[in-house]
Amino acid sequence: MIYAIASGKGGTGKTTVTASLAALWDRPVTAVDLDVEEPNLHLFLNPELTGEVQALMEVPVVDPARCLLCGQCAAFCQFKALSVMGKTLLIFPEMCHGCGGCLLLCPEKALNPGGRELGQIVSGSFRAGRAETSPFLMGRLRVGEAMSPPLMRQVKARLPEFGAADILIDSPPGVSCPAVNAVMDADCIVLVTEPTPFGLHDFRLAVEAFRPLGKPLGAVINRAGMGDGCVQDFCRAEAIPVWAEIPFSRAAAEAYSHGEVVARAVPQVRDTILALMERMQAAAAADSREACHA
Ligand code: SF4
Ligand code: SF4
Repeated sequence: MIYAIASGKGGTGKTTVTASLAALWDRPVTAVDLDVEEPNLHLFLNPELTGEVQALMEVPVVDPARCLLCGQCAAFCQFKALSVMGKTLLIFPEMCHGCGGCLLLCPEKALNPGGRELGQIVSGSFRAGRAETSPFLMGRLRVGEAMSPPLMRQVKARLPEFGAADILIDSPPGVSCPAVNAVMDADCIVLVTEPTPFGLHDFRLAVEAFRPLGKPLGAVINRAGMGDGCVQDFCRAEAIPVWAEIPFSRAAAEAYSHGEVVARAVPQVRDTILALMERMQAAAAADSREACHA
């Protein structure tokens, strides 16, 4: 089963919840950081990192000896990554989305596949629940690179190598293309929020964006008791189950600031996360049973 931990905005405690779940998970699990623009799950899980590969995206490279400067490729590219200027075909690799269309289209076969660096895929292992070590995988976007979904897809493509039954994904915050990309293959979505008007605003957007995917979806209210009851009221009105409320506590904040897994450091949080884990597993299993009977 794939479980995506997401949030409508940054700073709600999404990575804290992911790290806590990964550290207590009672089945073989792979922890994946798909928040590739700012990966920080490793800061809490402290994995032993053993592998790093460069992730590339295919971009065209022109063979000037074959190119007749007909301009068909430039007219085709919706992203304006190609342009005929005088006696040269200019290619702007940073604007290319890697669709490969121009390579197929060129009648002279003057375009060849080249590579643009997207970032790195880092792998390793960490100490989880009952298993001695569990796989860890992280995408890290190159500084200045604008497109994270192609890197995220390459990270996800590596998952079968690790063979764990369950996968926990730390998703990018928000509801943009990368966030949807992270949760779209999940069997269950956990939305982490906080009980404040700002938290509710972005939580509402996340519900609107992710609920149409038709996956089991539940809320985690972090720092409960700090704000008001607006998120709980919204969840009741929208029939969104609240799978966990993590109380605001100084002990949790101190553990976080020291880079510790909060559920390992604070017994009360540990109990809450274990209950959350059971609810997530039950929701995903029930959905899978329903799909089998449909
Ligand atoms: S389609 Fe081929 S020949 Fe025409 S401009 Fe592009 S690369 Fe050159
Ligand atoms: S691969 Fe696609 S996006 Fe990139 S330059 Fe060619 S047509 Fe444009």
